[in-house]
Amino acid sequence: MSLTQTLAGAETCPVCGAYGGKTIYAEARDPITLDSFQVIECFACGVAYTSPRPSSLDKYYPQRYRGYGGFVTRVLNALYSLRVSRWARLNHEGNSVLEVGCGPGLMLATFHRRGWRTLGIERNEAVAEKARRALGVEIVATPVEALPADARFDLIIMFQLLEHISEPVALLRECAKRLAPGGHLITNVPNFSSWQSRFAGPMWLHLDVPRHLAHFTPKTLAATLAQAGLKLSTLSFASLEHDPYGWVESTINKVTGRANTFTRFLMGLDPFGPAVLLSGVLGVVLVLPAVLLSVVSWGAGRGALLEAIATKAAPAEK
Ligand SMILES: [Zn+2]
Repeated sequence: MSLTQTLAGAETCPVCGAYGGKTIYAEARDPITLDSFQVIECFACGVAYTSPRPSSLDKYYPQRYRGYGGFVTRVLNALYSLRVSRWARLNHEGNSVLEVGCGPGLMLATFHRRGWRTLGIERNEAVAEKARRALGVEIVATPVEALPADARFDLIIMFQLLEHISEPVALLRECAKRLAPGGHLITNVPNFSSWQSRFAGPMWLHLDVPRHLAHFTPKTLAATLAQAGLKLSTLSFASLEHDPYGWVESTINKVTGRANTFTRFLMGLDPFGPAVLLSGVLGVVLVLPAVLLSVVSWGAGRGALLEAIATKAAPAEK
């Protein structure tokens, strides 16, 4: 056993429940509170996870978490629209979609405009209520298991959700039960084995401890889906809103030693100041190399956001 290995972790792996793992990062700081965490790789199943896992995450989700302004929202809307077009082509027969963790409901609204039957789940009742009123889509604040037992969906989407969940296999199982015959489950998570993760280490923009409790690779995500009775059918890696921005912000993090200066400004956590200005100037210089690196990383299967499309596994394969 090497010096970097530990069996002393009080934590169990969120995916398989085993104790103990190898320390990947001895210190990774929360870019919002600056609290320090570790990232451990489970000895049993190989998934990486955040340790310690806070008993309450309330203080780690500021009011403005992902509460971007009008311009950023418009850009995201345009990008979500492209994504929804691609996903909508997966199902030829049905047109019902459930999004778990739908936040302000931008993707659901895009499906709704295309004539899909939509349902969103958002645990923050205030966010759900605001989205219901603004977009006219149905959003409930109940867990998946509280949906009617016979509810079935052609598409179930978990966009940037699974990494936040303390028991991801249990949630995936509940979703698998609600897939219509021939239905697809789509889950997008940050790719822990992406080039930008390997480059920036604990300063990677999309590591985001302790909000991200599990850090998946293509291999560990496929294994997690399999535990929940789901079969991976397609993996892809291209994300216009994650890759170039992730390269730029992670590189600035490494150069300046300050975490997520520009993102904190966009979220309204910090006012404009010299550090934001410096970050902006560096950002302009880095845009072109970041776009080029992103495109190459997509081709190599090492992009920052991992998208898995899964179907129900045949009973014999469970
Ligand atoms: Zn494990």
